[in-house]
Amino acid sequence: MKISAHAEKILKIGYVCDRCLGRQFASLLTGLTNSERGRSVRLFMAMEYENKPFKTDINNFYGAGLRKKTKARQAACCICYDIFNSFPNYLEKAQSKLRGVEFKTFLVGSRLSAELETSEKQLWQAVGKKHVESLKNEVNREFGKLFEKETGKKFDKDKPDTTILLDMHTEKVSIQIASVFIYGKYKKLVRGIPQTKWEKYPETVEDIVAGPVMRSLDGKEHAFHGMGREDIDVRCLDWRPFVFEVKDPRRRQLDLNDAKKEINSSGKVRVSGLRFSDKNEVRKIKEAKPDKSYRILIEFEKNITQKNLDKLRALRGKQIRQQTPKRVLHRRSDLERKRKVKAITWKLINGHTAELTIKGEAGLYVKELVHGDEGRTMPNISELLKNRVTVKEVDVVRVWI
Ligand SMILES: [Zn+2]
Repeated sequence: MKISAHAEKILKIGYVCDRCLGRQFASLLTGLTNSERGRSVRLFMAMEYENKPFKTDINNFYGAGLRKKTKARQAACCICYDIFNSFPNYLEKAQSKLRGVEFKTFLVGSRLSAELETSEKQLWQAVGKKHVESLKNEVNREFGKLFEKETGKKFDKDKPDTTILLDMHTEKVSIQIASVFIYGKYKKLVRGIPQTKWEKYPETVEDIVAGPVMRSLDGKEHAFHGMGREDIDVRCLDWRPFVFEVKDPRRRQLDLNDAKKEINSSGKVRVSGLRFSDKNEVRKIKEAKPDKSYRILIEFEKNITQKNLDKLRALRGKQIRQQTPKRVLHRRSDLERKRKVKAITWKLINGHTAELTIKGEAGLYVKELVHGDEGRTMPNISELLKNRVTVKEVDVVRVWI
């Protein structure tokens, strides 16, 4: 269809502002704003009209230079209801919401009112949508331009520090602040603290890391994404990677070195390699399944000899079948899994005690490998040595990243 025929159909519907007129031809020509497109089409159509009048809403040609005087425009644009005129209000609301929030980049999103959605839909049904851009798109882009100009912040559609949401239905503005992510590695030097929140335990690895970070970034909540976790009574003496997430932070800058010093002064948790990170790294950390080596102190019910203990050789390279341990059954489904003992060494300490070092495939339950969990783990050390064994101490000594 000729542009003029298309424009004639649009202008017949009612008064349409430059932006809305131009937006129906948005994919034609580059380097123009929709307002400029709309103005050009309007002037051209005004010439057509003066040359040979056609059925139209005459308001559309007010101020377009017709020789025959037209009446003054009174109506609002029948497509956008002059929504762009309320941008200064939305700008003020956005700025007030963001007062005291530190950010460099932003993104704009919007929710149109039902009448705006309907007016655009009806227009497209009547005249087609071959070259159009949506109203919502223009609202987001144009508000973004205005916000950039007024605040000096940068529009960033991929990784914005904050997202500004304009609700044209309620005329309210809300903001979403992107989380700050900090990558690091930790060691847990003491027993008795869980990695993350756990029933009655008052202190966690997460809390210790959170202390200085939350104070600096003034976040609402936090989350700790660890590459696996050790049991509460297990120390972690090798570096275990994690990403610490601060949700809704009002600030985004912090001295990671100071934070590290404060965390390490806890004497319970040490961190190293702190740096800023992102959501993608959380996924990678959660997907990683590194093997782990453990040092395990075990105690036998009956006396044990070196020769006896040497039977552990049979476990080298062995697949272990493990039914979900009884101690975690309340939160995990009852399944059988197979994990390999990749290496095992042993040292007799005295007639009742030995120290094992076991390298296990990711996911191997080592405590159950030792005592057998009433036959739910097979083979197991108790059964292999025909001697009931209890686990005294476990340390993670190596995370094989
Ligand atoms: Zn309009």
